[in-house]
Amino acid sequence: MYQFKHGSDLLTICSEHGINFGEVVLRAEVEENDTDQLTVRARMEKMLSDMTEAVEKGLKPDVKSMGGLIGGNAHRLFTGSNKKNVCGSTLLKAVSYALAVTEINASMGRIVAAPTAGASGILPGCVLAVEEELGLTAQEAVEGLLVAAGIGQIIAANATLSGAEGGCQAECGSASAMAAAAVIHMMGGSPQMCLDGAAMALKGSLGLVCDPVAGLVEVPCSKRNATGTAIALVCADMALAGITSFIPFDEMVEALKRVGHMMSADLRETARGGCAITPTALAYTESIKR
Ligand code: SF4
Repeated sequence: MYQFKHGSDLLTICSEHGINFGEVVLRAEVEENDTDQLTVRARMEKMLSDMTEAVEKGLKPDVKSMGGLIGGNAHRLFTGSNKKNVCGSTLLKAVSYALAVTEINASMGRIVAAPTAGASGILPGCVLAVEEELGLTAQEAVEGLLVAAGIGQIIAANATLSGAEGGCQAECGSASAMAAAAVIHMMGGSPQMCLDGAAMALKGSLGLVCDPVAGLVEVPCSKRNATGTAIALVCADMALAGITSFIPFDEMVEALKRVGHMMSADLRETARGGCAITPTALAYTESIKR
């Protein structure tokens, strides 16, 4: 009764039952896995608390990644954001949090892969920063995570969430779409606005290649989470202002899939293209072989 495969299904269920986006995802999960709402909510609360823990650890100054390419950037941005800056407090906090989670991931710490480990900073960055900066409750943040899960499910069902299959557009792009929809829902936006924001975030990421230096999920992954966070928040604000996506969300998911299939294997997590074959990246790759 509550199962959905496309964004259009979700909109229909919302209007037929007079319920919001998060409620559809919650009821679908209960229905599919023969569980109950309390159990699903408890699982999402645990995810939120694991995300918070990763952010807190990642904001410390002494974080060091396994490959030594990143670490300390979250602390640098977070502490520096009190000074003169361009972006403003919500965006800088969200980006600092996103960097924090990716630095913890790259140092083998515990993170929530939402939707993947490589793109694990964007969703917590957006949801936790918006919760804090806009004075929302943890319950509202959990609702946001439910909406994000719904967007991720649709992309997984109709395209892919894997960088090896679809490039970074499928990882960081999907994470941006999930985060944009989560934030829109948390801010009181409608289901249609959530889909519009997610569609615009996919547009902003379409064609993004997967090119990890030396095959490590450090460069460009960490900073791509930072820019993916900015895409999500900008798209959330556009949708909340009533800006719609000319291309509907479901068609953008199809476009992501098609672009992924057109991408050379060199640009899909093989470290044979993009940033991974720049002179600096190749020199680093050689240095760690010695
Ligand atoms: S570049 Fe590849 S490994 Fe890094 S975050 Fe993007 S998809 Fe993941």
